[in-house]
Amino acid sequence: MRRAGPGGEPFRRGSAVVTQLVGLLGWPLGHSVSPAMHNAAFATLGLEWRYVALPVPPEGLAEAVRGLREQGYRGANVTIPHKEAVIGLVDEASEAARGIGAMNTIVVRPDGRLVAENTDWLGFLDPLDRQGFDLPGRRVLLLGAGGAARGVAYALAQRQVGEVVIWNRTSGRAEELAAQVSTAFMGLRVVVRQDIGAMMREPVDLVVNTTAAGMWPGEAESPWPEGLAFPAGALCYDLVYRPERTRFLEQAERDGCATQGGLEMLVMQGALAFELWTGQKPPVAVMLAAARAALVSHKVN
Ligand code: NAP
Repeated sequence: MRRAGPGGEPFRRGSAVVTQLVGLLGWPLGHSVSPAMHNAAFATLGLEWRYVALPVPPEGLAEAVRGLREQGYRGANVTIPHKEAVIGLVDEASEAARGIGAMNTIVVRPDGRLVAENTDWLGFLDPLDRQGFDLPGRRVLLLGAGGAARGVAYALAQRQVGEVVIWNRTSGRAEELAAQVSTAFMGLRVVVRQDIGAMMREPVDLVVNTTAAGMWPGEAESPWPEGLAFPAGALCYDLVYRPERTRFLEQAERDGCATQGGLEMLVMQGALAFELWTGQKPPVAVMLAAARAALVSHKVN
């Protein structure tokens, strides 16, 4: 089994430097930008590490997670559809991973213990923090009720927003999410609306699209109804990053709203995972440029 020091320094077997591995577990994996982003970061810091795609169907997940430890991997990212299931397959899970009920990062500790982390929620907050967008007390429209919505709801609750209004195409899932968030965060007002227009009878500060509507190859779609004006002055944030400029963002800009796309979140969740694995400060600008180049090279931007 391969091991390296906690600072991410190369492991040597005799005089040979052994490449450290991290992987991406998902199914199907398609064209992920994560390998390009992480491998660019390893190269920039001169780390003898490699990030590899590990396409694993659900029936092979338990064996693949065990295999990370047995084959000396330093960690992994986890994506659809495994983000929930992996929590039951690791030795421990961080408070955020447990609170969200989903994780996106596995760290293999030097003693071989597997730890599940969630860096999505901090990745979501980073662009807002960079813009100086103050969340406490704000009213937020959350579009979607899938896995990404759970992480965003957790982040919003941690930052003590005033109210979260949830809309989802399948309203039963919005009700389920609202019930979970209200139970976990007593005092946070969470309501469900079945039509987006009805959400806007009161002022809105932030609109977050966590639905997959608008994601390549369905880039002509948007969850926002055509002809409905966006709330004046709201910041409109789309988690979809493929394409980088989505139909939802175009609609919001047309109505004069400030916008935030999903690529920076993707890069930050990756950068935080990178730091957990290597113990080194990630070169975020390099990772952003590599992710953008990977999107363009797949001609989806
Ligand atoms: P998920 O768990 O499968 O949930 C998908 C959500 O999208 C559900 O709310 C679903 O509604 C909704 N949806 C799908 N197609 C739709 C359509 N045509 N119109 C309206 N709603 C639609 O997926 P997820 O993990 O939450 O991911 C959702 C999106 O966020 C994906 O595009 C993903 O790439 C993006 N994401 C980005 C980042 C980032 O770092 N930027 C991180 C995580 C996720 P129903 O419940 O009605 O099916």
